[in-house]
Amino acid sequence: MAGVLALSGGVGGAKLALGLDRILPAGALTVLCNTGDDFEHLGLSISPDIDTVLYTLAGIANPQTGWGRANETWTFMAALADLGGDTWFRLGDADLAVHIERTRRLAAGDALSVITEHLRSHLGIRSTVLPMSDQPVRTQVETSEGMLPFQQYFVKRQCEPAVRGFRFDGASEATPPPGLSQWLADTPLEAIIVCPSNPFISIDPILAVPGLRRMILDHSAPVIAVSPVIQGRAVKGPTAKMMSELGLAVTSTTVAAHYGELIDALVVDHSDDIEPIRNGPTVLRAATLMHSQKDKCDLAQTILTYARNLRTR
Ligand code: GDP
Repeated sequence: MAGVLALSGGVGGAKLALGLDRILPAGALTVLCNTGDDFEHLGLSISPDIDTVLYTLAGIANPQTGWGRANETWTFMAALADLGGDTWFRLGDADLAVHIERTRRLAAGDALSVITEHLRSHLGIRSTVLPMSDQPVRTQVETSEGMLPFQQYFVKRQCEPAVRGFRFDGASEATPPPGLSQWLADTPLEAIIVCPSNPFISIDPILAVPGLRRMILDHSAPVIAVSPVIQGRAVKGPTAKMMSELGLAVTSTTVAAHYGELIDALVVDHSDDIEPIRNGPTVLRAATLMHSQKDKCDLAQTILTYARNLRTR
């Protein structure tokens, strides 16, 4: 069975991962998740992007917030607030069970990839979900107010400080998750897809894990990225704000230049005006704004069709 590898952050990535999961045969998709957003909070090990992908693929994600679980209750958070505890990072009651189980198993010596696989199977998910590494990598955001740990910047400060750059602490000592290289060697791949995630804080940390970029570059499958920018705006989150603060034009062309030789093609929205990119990736067009499950499945299908054409070209 041919496989598909998808690189994903949280919300934007999980949308396309859901489309791919629903149209591919069970087990064909592997989602490689960013763990640069992971952090320790209230004594718990939290992996926001892995959880967004798990909850989305399991059909239990909260569509309103874009994070956490649907039909969540907040008894723990309210009780913590009454005690004067730290409540800037919201943890729902059912969500808490995942963090407690992950924390317990990490403390017992289990690898993050093993724990993620356990969660995947208990949530009834058909696709493989992998952390980008079992070793901790922690994104630090260089801002106008100094270096901020990722969640301090993202959640506590609501992305307010201007961004100057990023550092992925621990990346140089990290290794790709066990089994990924073997899976890539054993599985004919239809495509490697870079989901429409934030290039700087969701995809770059994955590519910073030594060996992963090379694995992708050396693979014969077409590498196709989907732009998270549509008509000069990000659909959600700080991608556009970051681009401006870094002195970059907020366009899909910037996304193409950012990924450079890594990708063979960039999928941009039909409505997006983009110049052909000299010596750059092939520009493909599709409806890339995903609201409904049908939008997600249609985009996934279009990308796989493009991948087949790229391969035969
Ligand atoms: P985060 O880790 O939760 O911030 O999630 P990601 O990095 O995976 O996704 C954030 C990016 O997804 C933002 O840059 C958004 O512009 C992009 N995004 C969200 N929804 C869509 C969509 O429907 N279509 C496209 N093309 N991009 C999207």
